[in-house]
Amino acid sequence: MSTPSLLILPGDGIGPEVMAEVVKIIDWYGEKRDLKFDVTMDLVGGAAYDKHGVPLADETMAKAQEVDAVLLGAVGGPKYDVLDFSVKPERGLLRLRKEMDLFANLRPAQCFDALADFSSLKKDVVAGLDIMIVRELTSGIYFGEPRGIITEGNERVGINTQRYTESEIRRVAIAAFELAMKRGKKLCSMEKANVMESGILWREVVEEVAKDYPEVAVSHMYADNGAMQLVRAPKQFDVIVTDNLFGDILSDCAAMLTGSLGMLPSASLGAPMENGRPKAMYEPVHGSAPDIAGQGKANPIACILSFAMALRYSFDQGDEATRLETAIEKVLADGVRTGDLLADEGVTPVSTSGMGDAIIAALDASL
Ligand code: NAD
Repeated sequence: MSTPSLLILPGDGIGPEVMAEVVKIIDWYGEKRDLKFDVTMDLVGGAAYDKHGVPLADETMAKAQEVDAVLLGAVGGPKYDVLDFSVKPERGLLRLRKEMDLFANLRPAQCFDALADFSSLKKDVVAGLDIMIVRELTSGIYFGEPRGIITEGNERVGINTQRYTESEIRRVAIAAFELAMKRGKKLCSMEKANVMESGILWREVVEEVAKDYPEVAVSHMYADNGAMQLVRAPKQFDVIVTDNLFGDILSDCAAMLTGSLGMLPSASLGAPMENGRPKAMYEPVHGSAPDIAGQGKANPIACILSFAMALRYSFDQGDEATRLETAIEKVLADGVRTGDLLADEGVTPVSTSGMGDAIIAALDASL
């Protein structure tokens, strides 16, 4: 098989700082595990606007369509707040998601033991938590027509439409079942079939897809109950699949079970390409953090965990992904902390590169 290709788009603010640590780790895999990647670096967001006058150049978009996976840092910053909506940094990100048709957004919520005290929930509720929310990303109420604000009689009416086709539900359900097969073989589908027709169809299609995955234990839950269960007893879940709107809310809720924004990775997957790999973009959940940009304070773990997801979901290197996650777990257990993870006074934080170096030392120790 040819060398797997990666397009790296560091972006703005802390994006380039955290991505520099990922590049160190990619180099480590090349040198120490003979796992080489054909890496191209390019611009996105404000950085692309500064050079090209648009937040994503057409050539960059074309490259993103060709590679095996895209790795993105973060976009945005106060400097670009005054720009017209059409060229704002975020439009670059949205263009990538839309044109690559990345319909399944994977948001893991994993609680590292060493950080269990960080959660706003009790330690025993979150310690060892490892769940995955699969959110439908390209349809539903954020895209459905009709939409807008109209006038009816003497008042204004705001309209959005929840709309899902069978095929849209089926493809995200298949992505979730495939994931469940690689994990704990347990899937919970969340909708509001009690009050929404789109929810009834969602449930029916998930049941149809379930017939192809007899090993997966499937359950259905109303999304409002799902929100309650996520904070009451999150460890009852393994994979959750849900629509765009509910997924937006539920994945943020689940993410915060684990503590800092600097720890949260994500993946957005599309249809399989000719080589069988899904179209894919991996990125940390956090933004460009202008308040700490350029100071070496950013936590690179969310971005590094996003690369671990790429190893697992794009490159079939589940064992190496586990090696990387275990190295991170060890570094945290040893008490190494960036500023965002500091709970106790008297602990000196490491810099962004200090955290990257500690993870590489733990990777070395794993050999
Ligand atoms: P943010 O995620 O950038 O920052 C929120 C807070 O979390 C800040 O205090 C920041 O310092 C901290 N933080 C975030 N990531 C961190 C990390 N890795 N290590 C340590 N601390 C971290 O969100 P925001 O402040 O609302 O947005 C800032 C800019 O980022 C805006 O322009 C926004 O539009 C953009 N944004 C981009 C993305 C993206 O690229 N996917 C996502 C969210 C926000």
